[in-house]
Amino acid sequence: MQDLVLDRPIVQKYGGTSVGTLERIQNVAKRVAEQYRQGQRQIALVVSAMSGETNRLVELVSGINPHSSLRNYDMAVSAGEQVAVALMAAALEKEGLPSLGLLAYQLGIFTDSLHSKARIREIDCQRLYQCWADGIVPVVAGFQGVTENLEITTLGRGGSDTSAVALAVALNAAVCEINTDVDGFYTADPRVVPDARLVEEMDFEVALEMASLGSKVLHTRCVELGAKFHMPIIVRNTFTPNDHQRTIIMNLSTQRKLEAPVVSGVTLDRNVVRLSVTQLPARGGMIAAVFDTIAASGVNVDIIVHNKQENSDSMRIGFTIGSADLVRTRALLESWCRDQGGNISCEAAEGLAKVSVVGLGMQSHPGVASRVFSVLENEGVAIHMISTSEIKISCVVAERDGDKAARILHRAFIEEEVR
Ligand code: ASP
Ligand code: MG
Repeated sequence: MQDLVLDRPIVQKYGGTSVGTLERIQNVAKRVAEQYRQGQRQIALVVSAMSGETNRLVELVSGINPHSSLRNYDMAVSAGEQVAVALMAAALEKEGLPSLGLLAYQLGIFTDSLHSKARIREIDCQRLYQCWADGIVPVVAGFQGVTENLEITTLGRGGSDTSAVALAVALNAAVCEINTDVDGFYTADPRVVPDARLVEEMDFEVALEMASLGSKVLHTRCVELGAKFHMPIIVRNTFTPNDHQRTIIMNLSTQRKLEAPVVSGVTLDRNVVRLSVTQLPARGGMIAAVFDTIAASGVNVDIIVHNKQENSDSMRIGFTIGSADLVRTRALLESWCRDQGGNISCEAAEGLAKVSVVGLGMQSHPGVASRVFSVLENEGVAIHMISTSEIKISCVVAERDGDKAARILHRAFIEEEVR
């Protein structure tokens, strides 16, 4: 099928597996050349490093010095994209399309100076406009940025999705296409829930929840950017023809939101740890002090429960964090508890998972939460913690129950399509 030719720029991002071999790079170049010949002249490509390459570079740095400065880390791990950009530009030339590879410092993708998790501040698009005026297809390095002082930064693992959407916003592009190795967003992870199906249109709000709840399709920050600037994002599989199923993430109209299914997706996050602080004196400032301690280390806290311990003047706070942050957070909290004196103590529970149902329809359907709980409890899945918002209900369950919980919720809310 011929893709629609748009009179505004389009950004196409190709991820690591899409450029994982020379043959794949050449296939991408063929697709782009075809679109160019059909009249799509303003195309900007964003590429990731070839699959496995960034991991290899990370291992090299930590192999030499696990405590290396993040400046060295960024300089090393951003190198994978440099190679991929040059190879893609060379492949386009072979297809007869003049092309120009551009690294972040050459284009001007300016970020703050938070090495290894920098945020984009501004993108200078001049060279891209010049490329298009000269009939050249630019290929931009994803994942990397540059500070005002010309220091190399990276945006965090998986960050080239964010590079692509930020570039699309800067160019006022018609759409940002993310080419990857899955067809798009599914109602659940098909490896866990075999009956999961592709969602063809998804509102930004739902996509944001799905991305941050651990469906690894997109870098969460890229969805945030898309939502903030109303930039439609197409997620599609590089290895399928142009008319194959795909997901488009955009602002659904109010009407469509009203008609949205109650639940659009079920997610499962297996990397959940619960920390609890007990015997906390029930006086002002204590809760803030606990969370200040954690926030100072940059760790994200998710579900929080707080209660007063019976027959005493003390409180108990429980909260979840990602398991990757456990060692650091526990060490911080233990030392904080010691500094406080008294009986304050902290304990961790591992072996947990978080299962969530997400959907716009929940806003207008009362009783979704109670149904989630009864579906889980009727099947013998014990719920440890709960959090709810207008479009999401999350339950922390034992990790061994995680897959089952996702499957039964998917069956109850999606396969049986409650409306
Ligand atoms: N190459 C980088 C990574 O592996 C960025 C990306 O692929 O999005 O994290
Ligand atoms: Mg990725």
